[in-house]
Amino acid sequence: MAIAAEDNRRATVPTPAGMMTTDRIKERSILVIGMARSGIATALMMADAGARVTVSEMKPEAEVSAAIEQLKAKNIGFEVGGHTLGSLENVDFVVTSPGVPPSNILLTGAKERGLPAYSELEVASWVCQSPILAVTGSNGKTTTTAWTGWIYKHAGRHAQVGGNIGRAFSEFAAGMQKEQRAILEVSTFQLEGIDQFRPKVAVLLNLSPDHLDRHGSMDEYTRLKFRIFENQTESDIAVLNADDEAVVAWDQDHDNGRAQHWWFSIAGPVSPGVWWDGESLSYDTGKAKGQIPGSNQLIPPGAHNRANAAAAVAVALADGLTPSEIATGLQKFPGVEHRLERVAVVAGITFVNDSKATNPDAVAKALVSFDQPLVVIMGGLDKGTDFGVLVPALKERARALALTGRAARKLEVELGAEVPYRSAARFENAFEIAVEIAQPGDVVLLSPGCASFDQFDNYEHRGQVFKQLVKDFAQRKESE
Ligand code: ADP
Repeated sequence: MAIAAEDNRRATVPTPAGMMTTDRIKERSILVIGMARSGIATALMMADAGARVTVSEMKPEAEVSAAIEQLKAKNIGFEVGGHTLGSLENVDFVVTSPGVPPSNILLTGAKERGLPAYSELEVASWVCQSPILAVTGSNGKTTTTAWTGWIYKHAGRHAQVGGNIGRAFSEFAAGMQKEQRAILEVSTFQLEGIDQFRPKVAVLLNLSPDHLDRHGSMDEYTRLKFRIFENQTESDIAVLNADDEAVVAWDQDHDNGRAQHWWFSIAGPVSPGVWWDGESLSYDTGKAKGQIPGSNQLIPPGAHNRANAAAAVAVALADGLTPSEIATGLQKFPGVEHRLERVAVVAGITFVNDSKATNPDAVAKALVSFDQPLVVIMGGLDKGTDFGVLVPALKERARALALTGRAARKLEVELGAEVPYRSAARFENAFEIAVEIAQPGDVVLLSPGCASFDQFDNYEHRGQVFKQLVKDFAQRKESE
């Protein structure tokens, strides 16, 4: 969204002291931009809270008919097949979905009229009665959010997990009770549209270039990520990655809210915070020190997953869970599909699906998570990132690359002089190349470093196709 933080604040609908936050919704006239899942969820939630809601969608009616049925059932108005500026008439504020670009005419129109534009995260937080635990970062958000959810579930605590992962926050925000917890994965897109969003515990996992195509510069991207802490008070806790230079530097140089700072690290002790001591996760809360039982046996592989675990443990400790309450969920967490997911071993070759690795940093983490030689399938739709950073790890660990998709040419130019490669336009053919090159004992790793939309609906689709190709290969081998 184009609205800068200052403009956003100036344009905020005033909330008089003592006014319930849901009164910011009741009897208001609200325009929701976009009929994707979070747009529909927020429209339904706000209608339930007594707002007059309209939803505007670019797609034609035929493509959003299921969403329209849901809106009709609640008497929510809508326009489809394009946006009209008239729909901003008499509107108090707009709510925008993550996929809506800043150039959208309703967003630019709202800005011109001085209307606030909020994200779904912001408005859902107004109706949510429970404390919020929020996770952001360039990589590891889903894993860390899901891991935190497992810890709460296995500790017998009532928590709902959602946001960017699974259910939209608006789908469950209104039902949350004070003693429960909303554990949310939060994206930069959502943080662009916050105003009063205030998590009890908020984590910034790491910062690496991603979505620079949308956010412009690394500084702007970093500023948006740090907004997660902006409304926290002294009674809240900000959890930061002590090993991430960009995080530490920005934190030192800027005023980042009033929360108490906790740290996590896989390099050495931090206080207050949680760190990997070489064998287990250790903690120092300022009041107590010790090791988390069973943290020497984590299932998801790689150092980055130890970092994610440390962050999840820091959240739970900061929120008052005990180390023994944390232990069971921490240990049992199996990892998340499409993130270094071990698919099968066929003909001595291990196949790993890391389809969610859509930027070079995620690929870098995957490359150092295995001891065996790698054949890495990379490519897809380039997001304007620099792949050259992968050269040292690829030279050390990769037998070869199988390149595909629209980014293949760029990958050839940036990596091809240093690492053996073969390319294929189609993903299926790149898989065949990888299988031909791999030796027994190797890992064939799908870690594309790119978005999937040139050949697939999304990264999940790409991961499913990869898993099907592995199955087909296994059958072929069986019948040989
Ligand atoms: P996000 O939700 O931020 O995209 P995911 O948990 O879905 O993060 O993981 C995305 C990709 O990043 C996967 O390839 C995963 O293996 C990798 N990854 C997970 N945690 C980290 C981390 N802490 N640092 C770097 N890469 C990570």
